[in-house]
Amino acid sequence: MKFYKDHYDVIVIGGALAGLSSALMLADKGLDVLVLERHNLPGGIATSFVRGGIEIEAALHEMMSIGPKENRLKVGKFLDDMGVDIDWLPVPECYHASLPGLEVTLHPGFERFAEEVDTMVPGTYDQVLKLLKLCDTVFNSVNELSIHPMSKAKMLLKHEAFVKTAGYTTKEVIDSFHLPQKAVDLLSPYWIYVGSGFSDLPFTIYAVLMADYVGYGSMIPRKLSHEMSLKMAERAEEMGVQIEYRQHVDKILVKDGKAYGVRTARGDEIYSDYVISSAYPNTVYTRMIEPISEVPEKATKMVNGRRISLTAFSVILILDRPAQELNIKDYSIFRSDTMDTDLLYENLAGLGPYRYLTCICHNYGNPGVTPEGTCSFSVTVLPRVDGWKEVKAEDYDRVKHQVARQVIDDMSAYFGVNLLDHVLEAVIETPMTVARYTGAWNGCIYGYAHTMEDHIVARLQTAEEEKFIEGLEFAGAHAISGDGMGPAVTNGRKAAKNVLDHMAEKEAAK
Ligand SMILES: Cc1cc2nc3c(=O)[nH]c(=O)nc-3n(C[C@H](O)[C@H](O)[C@H](O)COP(=O)(O)OP(=O)(O)OC[C@H]3O[C@@H](n4cnc5c(N)ncnc54)[C@H](O)[C@@H]3O)c2cc1C
Repeated sequence: MKFYKDHYDVIVIGGALAGLSSALMLADKGLDVLVLERHNLPGGIATSFVRGGIEIEAALHEMMSIGPKENRLKVGKFLDDMGVDIDWLPVPECYHASLPGLEVTLHPGFERFAEEVDTMVPGTYDQVLKLLKLCDTVFNSVNELSIHPMSKAKMLLKHEAFVKTAGYTTKEVIDSFHLPQKAVDLLSPYWIYVGSGFSDLPFTIYAVLMADYVGYGSMIPRKLSHEMSLKMAERAEEMGVQIEYRQHVDKILVKDGKAYGVRTARGDEIYSDYVISSAYPNTVYTRMIEPISEVPEKATKMVNGRRISLTAFSVILILDRPAQELNIKDYSIFRSDTMDTDLLYENLAGLGPYRYLTCICHNYGNPGVTPEGTCSFSVTVLPRVDGWKEVKAEDYDRVKHQVARQVIDDMSAYFGVNLLDHVLEAVIETPMTVARYTGAWNGCIYGYAHTMEDHIVARLQTAEEEKFIEGLEFAGAHAISGDGMGPAVTNGRKAAKNVLDHMAEKEAAK
């Protein structure tokens, strides 16, 4: 039997969340889909590993856009609709903010969140709630417009708040609420999940982030993020998708401006009408298109012009005591000595000491995640790629341990417990780990930065012009919805929709 068919409707490069979402949606419409994944497992960053007999989450802190069973948000609904049955657990809180003069745990629900901010900064309830409700209105508009695009005039009538705030930075909109600085600080910690300082972050992005996480809360899969990718892959295969592991796609074959297949590192040439790539456009347009002369100048300009967002540095510890005994009291802690996000963004350009730390103790969301009497605790920094890409091979080990030591020492001082005295297992993930494991450009996990110059609204409008090669679509954190695991699913769906729309147009033109 031949390994590959003579022809597929669609070849998907990468069997992680984005690629598998594309495959599920296309298979659901009856298309013949091949997924090629270079690892021996699905998932990309949505994975786990085993140390000392304990399965450890590699990345996921929290998933957005899932929602409770009776009121699913878009990602949760898509997975349900596709028959991907995940055992979701609600994350018990938004975050514990450990900021200058502030120690407070804030919980999901707009009213509850506003009340908790008001407890710390009295007299702010109404304005905080008003801001959160504005975020929610913008969030609902973005969700609707991403499915049903409309003219500007119609948009102004139906989505006034979205249109009116779209041209402003997060800082400008928040400033217009005249809140005391401490209240603003408490409304800021999630900024790191989108990774631009508030002076350059479009309010639209902040609004979506806040409405989704604060309004509806986040979720985690009981069997870690790998539960998502494994079940998606399993379901895709049930639906007839062919998934082949350990198949690195080396080249995307293009002729006369149209993609017609791929070549793997083992030399197989496989043909299809469409190719969906989880590999970054930067990798595709500089190394993967064959022949390279098929890369239009505009594509090179686009990838050179776009700012790559953040990468990740994470220390994951399995500790020999239950969390409470180590003074770890929350699922999620954001800790910093300032909440000036522009300053923090600058700090992330270097190699530390880092000022903004994101910590997770999974046991509070998923009590059985480690054996009784132990807990898992991770500290993550999301640095810019700038500093880490300059680290020389001979310095790598030293820099990696130096940064790990700094973040663990900081959190040990905060808890008043030397965490290093309690380590059963320790794993350090760096931007290089991400780059090597997933092939992500410079180890970036969030795709292209959301900035005022490269605004999501503008990106939506130029999306068609950025289709440089017919039949080639992109799915991943680097596609339009950007950042994170939830958006990766949305991006995968969007790439599949583009393929389906293109097919329908071709059919109609016959
Ligand atoms: C430490 C850390 C913490 C994070 N925390 C969160 C969080 O709490 N919430 C959240 O939403 N997001 C989080 N993220 C970000 C999130 O994991 C990513 O944005 C998301 O998983 C990206 O998914 P993806 O499908 O786009 O790509 P990836 O997971 O990068 O997968 C790309 C896939 O394509 C494959 N591939 C690439 N090139 C080729 C090729 N040429 N041939 C064959 N296969 C190829 C790779 O092997 C990989 O499987 C975190 C990331 C890290 C590192």
